Amino acid sequence: MRPFAYQKAADVSAALQTLAAPAAADTSPTDAAAQPLAGGTTLIDLMKLDVMRPRMIVDINPLASAWSAVDVRSDGLRLGALARMSDVAANPEIEKNYPVIADSLKLAASPQLRNMATLGGNVLQRTRCSYFRDIGYDACNKRRPGSGCAAMEGFNRNHAVLGASDQCIATYPGDFAQALIALDATVEIAGRAGTRRLPFAQLHRPPGSTPHIETTLAPGELISGFAIAGRWPRSLYLKARDRQSYEFALASAAIALDIVDGTVRDARLALGGLATLPWRARAAEALLQGQKLDDALARRVADAALSGAVARQHNGFKIALGKRVVTRALHQAATLEI
Ligand SMILES: Cc1cc2nc3c(=O)[nH]c(=O)nc-3n(C[C@H](O)[C@H](O)[C@H](O)COP(=O)(O)OP(=O)(O)OC[C@H]3O[C@@H](n4cnc5c(N)ncnc54)[C@H](O)[C@@H]3O)c2cc1C
Ligand code: SF4
Repeated sequence: MRPFAYQKAADVSAALQTLAAPAAADTSPTDAAAQPLAGGTTLIDLMKLDVMRPRMIVDINPLASAWSAVDVRSDGLRLGALARMSDVAANPEIEKNYPVIADSLKLAASPQLRNMATLGGNVLQRTRCSYFRDIGYDACNKRRPGSGCAAMEGFNRNHAVLGASDQCIATYPGDFAQALIALDATVEIAGRAGTRRLPFAQLHRPPGSTPHIETTLAPGELISGFAIAGRWPRSLYLKARDRQSYEFALASAAIALDIVDGTVRDARLALGGLATLPWRARAAEALLQGQKLDDALARRVADAALSGAVARQHNGFKIALGKRVVTRALHQAATLEI
């Protein structure tokens, strides 16, 4: 592991000032000179692997008193970026009014990790592509722009079937982001010019020709929280993975339905494990609007959700798996007792 400086943030403005320090000329384009440290469950891993090489880490945990609140109101929800995954997952108000959020967090990582990991760090975790995480492979456009992509012709069983480019096919690994994008969340971003708010759907960037630029955050900005309007008691997160103990998704679905007298008034569907970024399946959602949900419609919705999917040598099974996850999630959400 390379030497690095450690600084504890005294307050928000001190943290933002330190993080705004310009990157040194020889720093990888994906790495700022200074990197925020929250739970550290991903950042420290990647530093040990020599994939991320910040010169300084800025420990933002002292900001927790301002940024870890979980606030369930009659008109919506606000979650602080430094709230721990385990605390939010076990909150009875979240379990009751936003089960898709509680599920997405409970099904992520392990209990020990969830006790440390924060919501802000979770949405910014980086891909588990093994060629990205192993610096022994030269070709990785995300780690070394312009170097190629070892996964294209390599072992790509876990890679994306939606949203890939000819530069990168890495899967976005997180679970919680699918719940946020399905519920039209807003992300709150603190910068030196103040706080700005962005639809969560605009936070992550598709890989395109610059897979090393993963988000629309400006250098030095921090996520301070997330906001969701309304309540979504008829919602859930279903995740298919290689083992039931801690494991990343092969295919997952975040579903939220508003059903009145058997007719769908509103439907939200997002997919995980299948795409290069949190993936909202809007065309599939539209098929549900104003309809009575039955098996035939659920199958059409699943087909629409995976339309446009492109398989590589080893990941073709994800398309059929993704469809099964969507149909099962729809059925479970429609029959939830609320
Ligand atoms: C074995 C294992 C299994 C896992 N399985 C799953 C899984 O199934 N599903 C899943 O979703 N996740 C899984 N994870 C990932 C885990 O959930 C993340 O490591 C964790 O959520 C990251 O949160 P953190 O607070 O520890 O982030 P950190 O490691 O502290 O930070 C992560 C990144 O975000 C940046 N950052 C952190 N907070 C902020 C902020 N507020 N503003 C701006 N930048 C910030 C950091 O600089 C860093 O780049 C797994 C991890 C491991 C090690
Ligand atoms: S899929 Fe993306 S992260 Fe993986 S090797 Fe290719 S460029 Fe790198």
